[in-house]
Amino acid sequence: MIKEQAIIIGAGPCGLAAAIELERSGLHPVIIEKSNIAHSISMYPTYMHFFSTPERLEIGDIPFTTPNDKPSRLEAINYYRTAALRNKLRINAYETVLRVERQSDGVFHLTSTDRYGVEKQYESRYVIVATGYFDHPNYLGIPGEQMDKVTHFFREAHPYTGMEVAIIGGSNSAIDAALELERVGAKVTIIYRGEGYSRSIKPWVRPSIENKVNTGIIRMLFESRVVEINSHHVIVENPEGRHTIANDFVLALTGFHPDREFLTNSGVKIEEEGFPYFDETTMETNVPGLYLAGVVASKHEANEIFIETGRFHGNKIAQHIASLR
Ligand code: FAD
Ligand code: NAP
Repeated sequence: MIKEQAIIIGAGPCGLAAAIELERSGLHPVIIEKSNIAHSISMYPTYMHFFSTPERLEIGDIPFTTPNDKPSRLEAINYYRTAALRNKLRINAYETVLRVERQSDGVFHLTSTDRYGVEKQYESRYVIVATGYFDHPNYLGIPGEQMDKVTHFFREAHPYTGMEVAIIGGSNSAIDAALELERVGAKVTIIYRGEGYSRSIKPWVRPSIENKVNTGIIRMLFESRVVEINSHHVIVENPEGRHTIANDFVLALTGFHPDREFLTNSGVKIEEEGFPYFDETTMETNVPGLYLAGVVASKHEANEIFIETGRFHGNKIAQHIASLR
């Protein structure tokens, strides 16, 4: 059994921010990360730029310097890696937490596995869950969704040149991908359930997509749903009826949701509305000593917490733990 003062699960921006705050309050936490530092961000579209300005992404008061108004994915990875290294954060990378169980004496037993399947056991009085949501895309549950030609994660446009690509969804991931794909000569159809353009689309991007749609360069179907995916076509239903659309690839960019099952298995109460119970001032759940940080604490909408806001959760947690010691 490895004894720790505090364990943080997940080395995303919010887990890293929490680790820095706990260090500053005198604890020496370890982060257990199933992949690499800032794994979610490293999996975002290769050429994306954040919508936030750099100072709103900063953690631990470390300046995020860049000449760009909106940092790129690469700059963000570089920033969060540097923040972790400069603060000498302890990170057990490529290790997945399987279970968190609170014992009758108030100490947590945590079981993890490394990438070779070897289990490790930890003991800690405090556990902070900062597991994000990016591992859990919103599946559609339609026939054909599991085919190789379907992905819920867009990386870059080049492989799609000349291809018939259906993009499902109408928010930022869908619109950014559509514009990038059009630039490399893909034939893009966006299939969106909304009646008109989503209000979430970044304001500076909206004129570009409207222009491409109005000039017929990108096809956008509103009030439409893909109901079936086949090898060479998709079936779309909308108020005009049922349509067969030629198709080579499907990008289902329908957003993400936090892993609630991991939380319930750890004893966290899920409210009737479907979100986890926690105290907003301390981030502590109904399980004493078990805290939430970052996107995993989202309530009504998965996107209501993001780096700009989730980076401050660690400070609340550190203050609460300090008050107990
Ligand atoms: P994550 O960054 O997802 O980190 C969670 C970590 O936990 C991951 O590294 C994961 O591997 C690890 N993990 C999960 N389960 C386990 C386990 N069982 N054991 C061990 N480790 C585990 N937000 C902004 O503020 N500004 C922006 O401009 C912005 N742009 C975005 C662009 C895109 C394309 C997307 C998808 C999101 C964007 N967001 C933005 C949202 C932001 O990226 C997320 O809110 C942020 O990553 C949340 O940080 P987090 O630390 O809570 O979770
Ligand atoms: P999102 O904002 O959650 O949007 C998901 C889209 O898929 C919405 O249009 C939604 O429709 C649709 N959808 C969800 N479930 C569906 C279903 N079952 N059937 C059909 N359509 C469905 O996801 P996202 O665009 O991936 O964005 C995730 C986060 O990343 C957001 O915070 C976003 O701002 C951020 N992001 C930022 C950037 C950037 O800064 N460059 C780029 C991409 C993403 P409704 O609109 O009807 O809900």
